[in-house]
Amino acid sequence: MSDGLQQPTTDALAVSDWAFMGAALAAARVGAEAGEVPVGAVLVQDDAIVSVAHNAPIGLQDPTAHAEVLVLRDAARQRGNYRLVGATVYVTAEPCVMCVGALAHARVRRVVFGCPEPKAGALGSVYDLTGQAVGTHRFAVTGGVRGDEAAAVLREFFRVRRGA
Ligand code: ZN
Repeated sequence: MSDGLQQPTTDALAVSDWAFMGAALAAARVGAEAGEVPVGAVLVQDDAIVSVAHNAPIGLQDPTAHAEVLVLRDAARQRGNYRLVGATVYVTAEPCVMCVGALAHARVRRVVFGCPEPKAGALGSVYDLTGQAVGTHRFAVTGGVRGDEAAAVLREFFRVRRGA
């Protein structure tokens, strides 16, 4: 500390971000085994995981079945409330426009994502809705948490699919 270097691993928020993103990465890997594009998400309230999901548009035959939407639906059902005030959603890849809208409608407090999504990302890549109100709500955003691991899971999935 005396040399002025930051030590992020001693920061409580960074440590919990790391751990919760680990759960999202595990969900992404389960999705890959099911043949879905491996993106995973977890929804956390009061420092506890409420819901975990992976992308499942193929399995559910539902174009809206992105990991973020699935954790929002599940958590809202559990809570009996579509407003998930104070929630943080961890997702392994940058959310798309649909998911940014859904996250705002759910009134989540914060979104943490792993790797950028250059084809559809709406928090900086294709669009940048970071900090913008959707309806009347805006949420905080942290990107790049375990992004290398999240990108590696996606790369490996597409490499295997190509039969390389
Ligand atoms: Zn999405």
